[in-house]
Amino acid sequence: MNIKDRIKQLAQAHSSEFVKVRRHLHQYPELSFQEHHTCAYVRERLLEIGITEIESVAKTGLMATINGKASGKTILLRADMDALPIQEENTVEYASQNNGIMHACGHDVHMTSLLLTTKILWELRKDFSGKVKLLFQPGEELMPGGATLVMKETAYNALGPIPHLGQHVMPNLPAGKVGFRSGLFMASMDEIYITIIGKGGHAAVPEECIDPILVASHVIVAAQQVVSRMASPKTPSVLSFGRIVGDGANNVIPNKVTIEGTFRTYDEVWRTEAIEKLTKLVKSIAEGMGAECIVDIPRGYPHLKNDEELTNAIKKGAIDYLGSNNVVDLDLWMAAEDFAYYSQQNRACFYLLGVGNIQKGITSGLHTPTFNIDESALETGGGLMAWLALQSLL
Ligand SMILES: [Zn+2]
Ligand SMILES: [Zn+2]
Repeated sequence: MNIKDRIKQLAQAHSSEFVKVRRHLHQYPELSFQEHHTCAYVRERLLEIGITEIESVAKTGLMATINGKASGKTILLRADMDALPIQEENTVEYASQNNGIMHACGHDVHMTSLLLTTKILWELRKDFSGKVKLLFQPGEELMPGGATLVMKETAYNALGPIPHLGQHVMPNLPAGKVGFRSGLFMASMDEIYITIIGKGGHAAVPEECIDPILVASHVIVAAQQVVSRMASPKTPSVLSFGRIVGDGANNVIPNKVTIEGTFRTYDEVWRTEAIEKLTKLVKSIAEGMGAECIVDIPRGYPHLKNDEELTNAIKKGAIDYLGSNNVVDLDLWMAAEDFAYYSQQNRACFYLLGVGNIQKGITSGLHTPTFNIDESALETGGGLMAWLALQSLL
């Protein structure tokens, strides 16, 4: 039997065992950088598979190694581990047991899929040359991102620049399918916090006040100039404000207004420039209107770019494994992901694993309390990544 069919056979043979693994992880989710139980559980599964080379990284993360029959190339496969502060609303028997915490971004699926990949590659270790690094990374959902901690580890840096593969579940994509995009894929993400301090008072006496509500209104409208006039039309940019709080009343002008938003783009030089321009614009408008203004824009993740050559090769491998009708091309995705840090320094490919199933009613989006997956995706995801890893080592 050829190696592709053996991988498919192994993925299928082990799939029910790994559904159990996923359900366990789903039941006991942990928040970013607190993945202690998760880490211990993943380590146990790795030991059970037979892996002996396991290193601790980024406190609650792990990096395991599978050596093939001879030396050769190295590839890194990454899964993230953390859950979100969301109360699960699914009534499945494996629903979250940890109050207010839920694997609503599918990181339980990423870990399980990578464990299945590990199991398959371990069983095939006499059939390939080279080395596979399996990275279970904590803290994807919370700044500064677990990737930044991993990248400070000696064990990681000793690898030098090597190809990185990662996947993310996608409910819009039916289970059984995967999606790729070479080149720019996911956006950089910066959080924006603006505080406008005016002078509150009676709404009937505006001349004695500095109205932060009016200042905030001008600020919000003017800020859009950054994306509509200052950004190159060739560079996608998004500026959205999702929260504005001015706690006055129908007849009370408040003292201050706070605004929160996000800026996303695909160019690191423009990103820095845009943040500077936005800060200057907002401050000068507020000042011109007599208010004080504090702008805080903590830097988030950079944009994620998929190496074109690697991604094209990987996509070809996926077509070979799943058939061309199960491999789709993706559009830009304005979400952010800390895998982006790896993609800035290595040849990387981050792709999407379909987990939706309209017939079964599995359609809820990522980060929602009813997010779930069609568990057949585990077999697809785990088998495919094993196949893609071996293709990359050739
Ligand atoms: Zn997420
Ligand atoms: Zn995620």
